[in-house]
Amino acid sequence: MAKLTIHDIKTHGKRVFLRVDYNVPMEEKDGRMVINDETRIKETLPTLECLIEQGAKLVVAAHLGRPKGQREPSMSLRPVAEKLADLLGRPVAFVDDCIGEKVEKTASILREGDILLLENVRYHAEEEANDRGFAEKLARVADVYVNDAFGAAHRAHASTEGVARVVAARGGPCVAGLLMERELKFLGDELESPARPFVVVLGGAKVSDKIGVIDRLLDKADALLIGGAMAYTFKLASGMKVGKSLVEADKIDVAKAALEKAAARGVKFLLPLDNTVATPVDTGRLNKKGKPVFELKNPRTNAEKDIPDSEEGVDIGPATSLAYAAELRNARTVLWNGPMGIFEDPRFAAGTSAVAKAVVEATRAGAKSIIGGGDSVKALNQAGLGDQVTFMSTGGGASLEFLEGKHLPGVEALGNRP
Ligand code: AMP
Repeated sequence: MAKLTIHDIKTHGKRVFLRVDYNVPMEEKDGRMVINDETRIKETLPTLECLIEQGAKLVVAAHLGRPKGQREPSMSLRPVAEKLADLLGRPVAFVDDCIGEKVEKTASILREGDILLLENVRYHAEEEANDRGFAEKLARVADVYVNDAFGAAHRAHASTEGVARVVAARGGPCVAGLLMERELKFLGDELESPARPFVVVLGGAKVSDKIGVIDRLLDKADALLIGGAMAYTFKLASGMKVGKSLVEADKIDVAKAALEKAAARGVKFLLPLDNTVATPVDTGRLNKKGKPVFELKNPRTNAEKDIPDSEEGVDIGPATSLAYAAELRNARTVLWNGPMGIFEDPRFAAGTSAVAKAVVEATRAGAKSIIGGGDSVKALNQAGLGDQVTFMSTGGGASLEFLEGKHLPGVEALGNRP
């Protein structure tokens, strides 16, 4: 069901409570917290600019990190207020709480087009508990509710869900921002009846994280290309040897069921033909969690489907990269989620970067390419190719849940188009 957006309502002179995703990476430098990557702030600018143009009085709310109900100074949104003011070229007021008298007073003196950023909503434990009383306090400065925080929409928290319910109960509009609208369009509508062939590339660490997505996409896709550690659980399920590769032994039945479903539906289900493998060597050190640290030594291409007992699969191999690129060349719709190997280590990044290039080439040839968030977005940006795909999702967990077909509480709380 299509959701109402800020284009469907009038906000002139109204106090708009705008929930955004400003959970940006920060680090301490010379005693100050600085923002390492402002992408999430930039992504909200079209919504902010549209609402400013409409003459709304903006009260912006967000979370940062996991302060667990404590006022953790390193997780303050104050530096974000400064960055936002820079990016918009206009002042952004900041209040060091998200509820209470100071917030209400400042909101009451906002003029059309003014912006107030509230402090981290997670400084209050009631946020994550979706406490009704807390949502009512947030809603005291809300005539209209706008949600642009797709990345937080899979959580039913007070600022993503509760406050919308309070505003809606009063008859106030609850609508999607422009970023939320794009996420719902590309991850939802565009994949409902995709142009064919529809080719899906899935990688990453665990089958268990993505089995819901695999199951749903087996109903829609023409081909699934599997990489990452996830491929080894599927290889085990197909009777191949995987050596010391990362696998989920308890997910073999689930993997088998997916392989059977693919065969029954005539969906191509491609597993790596070859792999980059390395030998894990115990360093004698322990990590923070007390687990032994292994170094991956002697990387090489293993052209066999079976991986020797002493080695671990760390990337797809060159023959697989070519086969996956060939499959992508014919695609008219592409969905990619998850790296093909341990791409953080440049020795094992070749497969992921081959897929990134192939997705970009498919896009140039006219395919719609949708990148389902997380590490694949990182990989594309690292390769400088982020602007050469059709859409990159800003959600991680939210994108996966949405692709699985789950209803996201933050989306459900918004009004539907008639
Ligand atoms: P995910 O969050 O499920 O998309 O997983 C991303 C993580 O999977 C990255 O940190 C990769 O390093 C990791 N990964 C990908 N391939 C492998 C592999 N063959 N062995 C171990 N980890 C992997």
